[in-house]
Amino acid sequence: MNEMRYETPATPEAAAALLAGAKGQARVLAGGTDLLIQMRGGRVEPELLIDIKGIPEMTSVALENGAYRFGAAVPCMVLVEDKAFGKVWPGVVDGANLIGSIQVRGRATVGGNLCNASPAADTVPAMIAAGAVARIVGPNGKREVPIENVATGPGKTSLAKGEIVTSFLLPKRPPNSGDAYLRFIPRTEMDIAVVGAGVNLTLDDKGVCTQARVAIGAVAERALLVPDAAAALVGTKVDADALKKMAAAVSAACRPIDDKRGTKEYRIKVCGVMARRAAEIALERARRKS
Ligand SMILES: Cc1cc2nc3c(=O)[nH]c(=O)nc-3n(C[C@H](O)[C@H](O)[C@H](O)COP(=O)(O)OP(=O)(O)OC[C@H]3O[C@@H](n4cnc5c(N)ncnc54)[C@H](O)[C@@H]3O)c2cc1C
Repeated sequence: MNEMRYETPATPEAAAALLAGAKGQARVLAGGTDLLIQMRGGRVEPELLIDIKGIPEMTSVALENGAYRFGAAVPCMVLVEDKAFGKVWPGVVDGANLIGSIQVRGRATVGGNLCNASPAADTVPAMIAAGAVARIVGPNGKREVPIENVATGPGKTSLAKGEIVTSFLLPKRPPNSGDAYLRFIPRTEMDIAVVGAGVNLTLDDKGVCTQARVAIGAVAERALLVPDAAAALVGTKVDADALKKMAAAVSAACRPIDDKRGTKEYRIKVCGVMARRAAEIALERARRKS
């Protein structure tokens, strides 16, 4: 490995400037639970590492006008242990709480999970279902991008050179809302999702679903938002018929690969099942909030 420079900028703008000005290969370092493994394996050999864990804006969780904002470098375990956050966004916590082990979650961040751009990243479908938006800073200033538009394929993102994700904005939560994320893995933990599904829904006073978002992971080159699946829930009481239609829409949206962990047919079927189960949990959580 060549000589490596290690920087600890104090602001997102300083981090982005370092990244933009880098001559050779440069990488943002959040928890390092993906990056250090890639470096050890020789897959990346950065000349510059920009550690973002010391940037206050990127490591805090806050309410802004009644809506949650959390930094891209907040460790998953901080979200898992934040009871107030978990009450509002239990599905986002479901995703964060599935990453690796407690030790891994103590380092791993939602920003790193998103920007590593694995199609099987566990926090991403939950964040897409939540309607989260990524705040990005770079050489051309700031912009906001819906989570579903950040990863574009395995290991690839829509971030331009010098851009970093600084934080995530979650929408203000209407009453009677619930969300949930479930994944299927062949083992009980420390495995990569074979399929994942996140569902977020809101009910009116009569128990009719007024809005929904459904997202799936590990069944395409990136996590997908499935508007047809959400449409199958809206206007219904999320009954068996609506859930069946939603599961069918989810399966129709899958375009998975075949590999040793599951065939295409298997993933397509199981994804519908996982989405139905996630919707049932989201429904229960929404009802408990009424
Ligand atoms: C034992 C083990 C188990 C795991 N289990 C799971 C699992 O169950 N589910 C799962 O989804 N993942 C799992 N992972 C993968 C990894 O832990 C997650 O993807 C984690 O969220 C990555 O976050 P990080 O902060 O460690 O990212 P890092 O490794 O620091 O960064 C990952 C990539 O994103 C870039 N990056 C990081 N932050 C930013 C930012 N703010 N802006 C721009 N680019 C950025 C980095 O430059 C790097 O390319 C596991 C890893 C290990 C080692």
